[in-house]
This record gives sequence, C-alpha cells and structure tokens, in this order.
Amino acid sequence: LPTVAIIGRPNVGKSTLFNRLVGKRLALVDDQPGVTRDRREGDATLLGMDFRVIDTAGYEDEDVATLPGRMRAQTEAAVQDADVALFVIDSRAGVTPLDEEIARWLRSTDRPIVVMANKAEGRAGDSGVYEAMALGLGDPIPFSAEHGEGVVDLFEALRPHLEREEADEPEEDPESPDAILKLAIVGRPNAGKSTLINRLLGQDRLITGPEAGITRDSIAVDWEWTDFEERKRPVRLIDTAGMRKRAKVEEKLEKLSVMDAMRAVDFAEVVVLLLDATRGLEVQDLKIADRVLQEGRALIVVMNKWDVAENASSLFNGVKGALDEGLAQVKGVPLLTVSAVTGKGLDTMMKVAFETREAWSRRVSTGQLNRWFERAIEANPPPAPGGKRIKPRYVTQNKSRPPSFVLFGTRVDLLPTSYQRYLINGLRKEFDFGAVPVRLTLRAPK
Ligand code: GDP
Repeated sequence: LPTVAIIGRPNVGKSTLFNRLVGKRLALVDDQPGVTRDRREGDATLLGMDFRVIDTAGYEDEDVATLPGRMRAQTEAAVQDADVALFVIDSRAGVTPLDEEIARWLRSTDRPIVVMANKAEGRAGDSGVYEAMALGLGDPIPFSAEHGEGVVDLFEALRPHLEREEADEPEEDPESPDAILKLAIVGRPNAGKSTLINRLLGQDRLITGPEAGITRDSIAVDWEWTDFEERKRPVRLIDTAGMRKRAKVEEKLEKLSVMDAMRAVDFAEVVVLLLDATRGLEVQDLKIADRVLQEGRALIVVMNKWDVAENASSLFNGVKGALDEGLAQVKGVPLLTVSAVTGKGLDTMMKVAFETREAWSRRVSTGQLNRWFERAIEANPPPAPGGKRIKPRYVTQNKSRPPSFVLFGTRVDLLPTSYQRYLINGLRKEFDFGAVPVRLTLRAPK
C-alpha cells in the first residue's frame, strides 16, 4: 500500500486525524500535549482509497531545547518512507515558530507535501489557513479531524500521490489496444455461432450442422484478425456451444440457457449476441443481453443469416426498437448484420468489437472529468429533496472495464435515479463511451 506520513508539532490533532483515517480508536487522544507515545501505523481508507498511515509522535517530554532536534530526526525518517507527507498545523493557534521550522526542513525534501490546516471547523481557523499559505508548501487544506470536515479536499490532495504508487504495480496492460481481445459469441442454438467462428478462423475447426447443439469443441480459440489497415489483431474467441455438456444437449435444443451464456461471458470483454435473422429477437435473447450488461461487459448484437433475411429494413428497425426498449440500462447497443455463410459484415463486426473494447477500457483524467462535471451540474443543478441541498463536488474514475466513476459530495447518496442517469448519459456522450455499461457510485462523506 502507498504510505502517508502525518507530521507536525505536538497537539495539532495528529492523533485525532490518525484515528479518523484508520477508523479505530487506537490512540490516546487528549488536549494535553504529548499524550501519544509512539510512532503508530495503521491501514486507512479515505473515500474508498486505501493507504497506510504513519503517525509520528512521541515527544512526551517537552524539553524545548531538545524537542526540535528529536522531532526533526523522526519527521525526516517518516517523510523519507512515505509517498506523501501530511503536514498538520493548528489553524486556531496559527503558524508557530516550530511550524515554521518544520516547514523549513520540509522544503528541502523532495517528497510531496500536503499542508493541512486542522481544527478549521466553522470560521475560527480562517486566519490560520491564510498564515499556512505563507509556508510555501502549497495551498493548505482546511480540515477538521474532529468533525470530519474537508475529507473530499483531503482526498483530492492525496490522490495524485497515492495513485501513482498503485499504477506502478507490475501487471500486463489489458487496456492496451494491442492486448488480446476476449470475445464471446453467444446465441441460441442454430443462430450460427459455429458457422460464424469457422468463417472467422477460415477453417473447419468446429463442427457445424443443421442439428442444433452439435458443437462441443474447445471453449476458446486464439486467432488473429487482420484489420482494415492490414494489422494483425489478436483475438480469443469464446464459444458457448462448446461449453454445453454432451448429456444436456438434448434438453437445450430449443433455448440457450442464460446460465450457459453467462459462463462464456465471464471470460469475455466484449460479447456478441448472435441472432438468427429468420427468427428475430426473442425474449431469451433480451434476457441474455440484459445480463451481459449487468455483468459490466460490452455488448454487440449481431443478426446472422442476413443473406436470407426477408423484409430486411423493417426487420432491422424492429429489432433495434425492441433492444432500445428492452434494455433499461443502455440505449443504442450496436446492432449489426452479417452472413456467417458468405462472410459479409464480419470485418465490420470485428472492427466494432475492437472499438467497443477500447471504449470499455478507456480512462478519463480527473481534470477532464471535473471540467465536464462542473458544466453538467451548472446546466442542470441537482434537486433539493426536503429542502436539503445536495452538493455534488467531485467525480473520479476509479475503474475501467467497464468505466466506473465515483461521485463525492454532501448528500449525493440522495440523488434520484433520474439525476444519476443524467450524469451517466452525460459521461457517456462527453467521453464517447458509446453503449458500454457505465457505472456510477455515490459517496457522501460521513
Ligand atoms: P450454432 O448452433 O449457433 O453453432 O449454429 P450453426 O453454426 O450450427 O448453424 C446452424 C445452421 O444455420 C446451419 O445449418 C448453418 O449452415 C446455418 N447458418 C449459419 N449461418 C448462416 C448464414 O449466415 N446464412 C445462412 N443462410 N445460413 C446460416
């Protein structure tokens, strides 16, 4: 875990802060200076961000002659070990000579420093906050460790230093456009999954036939698609048919169970729901589509056997309308037409699959997000249920695949669904997420 060191002279509220971050009453807290005995460490969480926190302390004897020397040694050691140091001052007491001395030590370190003006509840700390600006260590964060005010600002200030640490963890980058595309093909028996996969692979690796459910081949095939720029793009095709157990084939002739489809979906980034154009969209297809989105996967609906489709345009529009109506979470899921037999439309399908994976994996910078966010809030201010104002303050993307966002602010947990949808649709439009599922979590500081 990344580490935050809490530093500052005695009695500025370091222990209260430590307790608030760690969430347990571990330390003794008292108005008497120097109650805390040791350097303590704990696992903290702040608005969902996890880190380790070190509390420097232990200046129990207040010998003014030796205190600065001992503090300096301990402060410098803690700062060296930490990803960011949180320098706490008491905004009611203002900046003292000892604070100034600590600031002098800190200015010579190359570790990131965040200044916190504690005890700033109400307005009593205002002048101390201004004084702290003059320390030359960046804008201080007004905070109240006791009342828990300023949590979002603290999160904002710490986040860039702690996130970098997380990103350093060695792992292969699945967000890279060159990473293998994990594509599941699901659909009712006889929709043409095997034919489609064979056509893509250019060889009869799977067995197809007029009887439904004949395939029980491998569950995944690795392959390369040559894109429109002649680049080789790695793909892992995951087939549901292959997952069906031989004994159960008979009873599954008529319908694909949602369970079966979902097993393939587990392995996939993008899911192609294959429909048989001669049969159209059935309830079971919608159920599967809905589950795919619920699982946070990107969905593409593909109508196969387009070579023999009748009334093509009304069929297409009918299915399109039924999808938009039937899928509550996402409008405008891509609907494509192909013929697995002739190969028509398959390159477009693969292109859309890669583009969809790209949107599904996309990360938006916090700066970009919040520039959009401020406009969105201004254009359509949130409601005030029961006269209590909801004050959304800040949005961050905490995950991709699927894109997931966290909204912080006072009472944001009370935002009505319609307003959440407004924000999600705004995000979708502004950052081109298309029809991939976008998630929004609401966090109101306690
Ligand atoms: P699966 O059960 O989904 O794997 O379906 P299959 O691939 O076994 O195909 C079922 C039947 O539909 C076979 O008889 C295929 O020849 C036929 N079929 C598959 N794709 C097409 C297509 O694009 N056009 C036409 N006309 N027939 C197709």
